[in-house]
Amino acid sequence: MKYVSTRGNEQNLQSAEAIIAGIATDGGLFVPTEFPQIDMDFIESLVDLTYQQRAVKVLRTFLVDYTQAEIEACVNGAYGCDKFDTQKIAPLAEVGAADVLELWHGPTSAFKDMALQLLPQLMSTALKKTGEKDQIVILVATSGDTGKAALEGFKDVDQIRIMVFYPNGGVSKMQYLQMATQPGSNVAVVAVKGNFDDTQTGVKKIFGDQDFKVKLKAKGVQLSSANSINWGRLVPQIVYYFSTYADLLQQKKITLGEKINFSVPTGNFGNILAGYYAKNMGLPIHKLICASNTNNVLTDFLQSGIYDRNREFFKTITPSMDILISSNLERLLYHVTGGDTNQIDIWMKQLSSEGKYAVGDSYIKEIQEIFWSGWADDEKTKETIRKVYDVDQYVMDTHTAVAWQVAEEYKKATGDLTRTVVVSTASPYKFNDSVLNALGREIKGKDEFALLADLESFNKTKAPAGLAQLRVMPVLHSSVCDKETMAAMVEAKIK
Ligand SMILES: *Cc1c(COP(=O)(O)O)cnc(C)c1O
Repeated sequence: MKYVSTRGNEQNLQSAEAIIAGIATDGGLFVPTEFPQIDMDFIESLVDLTYQQRAVKVLRTFLVDYTQAEIEACVNGAYGCDKFDTQKIAPLAEVGAADVLELWHGPTSAFKDMALQLLPQLMSTALKKTGEKDQIVILVATSGDTGKAALEGFKDVDQIRIMVFYPNGGVSKMQYLQMATQPGSNVAVVAVKGNFDDTQTGVKKIFGDQDFKVKLKAKGVQLSSANSINWGRLVPQIVYYFSTYADLLQQKKITLGEKINFSVPTGNFGNILAGYYAKNMGLPIHKLICASNTNNVLTDFLQSGIYDRNREFFKTITPSMDILISSNLERLLYHVTGGDTNQIDIWMKQLSSEGKYAVGDSYIKEIQEIFWSGWADDEKTKETIRKVYDVDQYVMDTHTAVAWQVAEEYKKATGDLTRTVVVSTASPYKFNDSVLNALGREIKGKDEFALLADLESFNKTKAPAGLAQLRVMPVLHSSVCDKETMAAMVEAKIK
């Protein structure tokens, strides 16, 4: 199996090379040229395995240039050694008649951990395999969640440094503390005087600055990225679709071969796209339900075939889905067009010049065979949190509530009785104020830790240790820079 750029200018890479590079030089994303095929015996064989063992089997099908031993070591580094607060890693919770896939038992309490615990392992193994001697510096611009998950994943990993930039005053108190208290010998955290756009633009500028790259290269340093366009972030997510299916078999809720649906709260289209890969490998999935918030650019696309980012941007109570450009959609388009890289290049150029492209009737019909879409606004989201708590005493976070709500709408609209798993992407304790507010509790005048204690007082699941501890952790990072001096900051921190 080889990897190619969705825009056609890079071909024949091994997975290790694609993972080190992150993004292709033509601006495209790396994709596998084929879907490995599995059969029912493969699925059945997963039932009695641990999450780690399931991961090794699934990852092997894509990372064919890694040895079995290498993948085992990576998986154990990511999901072993008590980094997750449950042995199951990605447990399935029973909530009334529904199944909720909890992807937030990792060190930062958000689903980003599922991929960002494994990516550093895959990357540092890739460096050894390819004989790369340079030091890799990972640059991340974050609006909150990704930064912390990347720091936790990359801390103390050999041959790699990580630098996270966040907008000064532009992240929640909890997110600030998560990053500012980050231990590790190879980490740097810097606040940028500006908003998230300034921060992201600053990082993109550094990536695009050829002179700066040459200067770094002379010092034996290369830059790379940990954001969700890296294949090494997508591939770990395929595993939990298989693992969920194996759990449902084990619990005798389904029979081998029976199809199931997943409802996924979607932003950059990475999580749900991993489900698409699983389906194309042969996992019995009927529909993938793409759940959006008021920034419903994907709902419109999946209903009309027209992607149009020219619209008002809303700040919602589901900030991880406040996105108008869903990068991973490019990978879906590659596969649906049968690898028509010229066509992808044209659409992506239209997206960047006009903010818009249309894929036409036949492609969108094909996409609709697999994907259903819907969205929920903040009011509906809060109502869902309250309703599920009232009926089942299960507290879910805002993003999960969007997926729950859209799954309900799907059932109503289609009458489809296929078992539907709701994918849960964050612990409710990451969004205490919105969740408590949805449940009708008083939040005024209380700090993050008082809110955390409030939520804990009636939630069956206790607050994650990683969040509760923040109250007493020392602040280790206090650098601030201007958006114009971010590159200088990178140089200073490398020394
Ligand atoms: C990142 C994130 C999402 C969106 O996932 P994508 O893979 O970008 O679609 C949803 N919910 C939470 C809590 C997230 O952190």
